[in-house]
Amino acid sequence: MKLSPYSNDEYTIGWISALPEELMVAMAMLDEEHGRAQSTPRDDTNAYHLGRIGEHNIVMACLSGGQMGTGPAAIVAENLRRTFKRIRFALLVGIGGGVPSEVKDIRLGDVVVSYPYRTYSGIVQYDYGKLKGEVDIERKDWFCAPPNKLLSVVDLLRAYYSRPKAPMDKMFGIIDELGKEYAYPDENETPDLLYQADYDHDPNAETCDFCDTEKLIQRRIRESPCKPYVHYGIIASGSMVVKNGVERDKIDQRYQNSILCFEMEAAGLMNNFPCLVIRGVSDYSDSHKNDKWRKRAIAVASAYAKELVSQIEPSDVEVLPPIARALVPKGIQHSIYVGDTIYHGPIDSNSGVVMGNAYTEARDGIRITGSTTSHYYGDS
Ligand SMILES: [Zn+2]
Repeated sequence: MKLSPYSNDEYTIGWISALPEELMVAMAMLDEEHGRAQSTPRDDTNAYHLGRIGEHNIVMACLSGGQMGTGPAAIVAENLRRTFKRIRFALLVGIGGGVPSEVKDIRLGDVVVSYPYRTYSGIVQYDYGKLKGEVDIERKDWFCAPPNKLLSVVDLLRAYYSRPKAPMDKMFGIIDELGKEYAYPDENETPDLLYQADYDHDPNAETCDFCDTEKLIQRRIRESPCKPYVHYGIIASGSMVVKNGVERDKIDQRYQNSILCFEMEAAGLMNNFPCLVIRGVSDYSDSHKNDKWRKRAIAVASAYAKELVSQIEPSDVEVLPPIARALVPKGIQHSIYVGDTIYHGPIDSNSGVVMGNAYTEARDGIRITGSTTSHYYGDS
């Protein structure tokens, strides 16, 4: 592979995939391929793929060797941050397990984007915290929200596609180019079925062909079923695969029924730097979960990410602090990684200021701050 004509410092946006098949589609989103990095420190275990989308130079990286979870994701993020010092934020793009309910009309092939909601920054780590009874959790997960600049572009895109007389959907065109396997699956061959939460799939059955159709949840038919809806809100991240309808709904309940989907990497990343998580819904996090919608889900998430990057002004990216500076605590030892987790207080990613009653805590019990005043986390 050729060497990129650009130095590492000329890359400003990261794009992280968890699976090689996600990276493959991510690469297809590039308007121009640059090749490999000019230099990579010997102890950086990531493989990078560089390129351009619109006016932005993008670094793509993938979790290696089929590893999944918040731990490996944190390592990829930390390497990325050290090697590409001018990265402002990253997009975490791939598949997730949907959490539909009566009020959340989430379908296979939809897109979920992490977005602050109530007191949540957009990501919750559901497997970390103190359980105070079945549905009550004392939260210990505080992640930095994506930079406001990035969120305002998300808002813009949201308005752009929901306005009356919405323009022709550009996302369609991008997905079409990927080819047939990424198209909306045939309704007869691979229907989008949602079963009642307490109806379990027969573990010996490979498909849902013999699952009880009486247990299906009837949903209204969408006007254009193959058009992906984009949902904005809370994504639940953790190191376990959620594959049980009852368990899924129980976790959702703990967060006031606000979870839109589950995934396994974001919690590891959000500690390291500001990032926006974009997930295509490939299953319903229940025992009927299969791989048939994966490709479609990867395609819609990737196409959304490309569209988002294309809408961002380069000047909007430049005003953001590079992550190397934004999150490294000044005067406080920056132990990024103790055990497999470290927690930051809610950080205003634009200014690098830790807001209000913030604390940084590691799993081994080291408590670094517990202050009600602001700390500056940059090199002012
Ligand atoms: Zn089934």
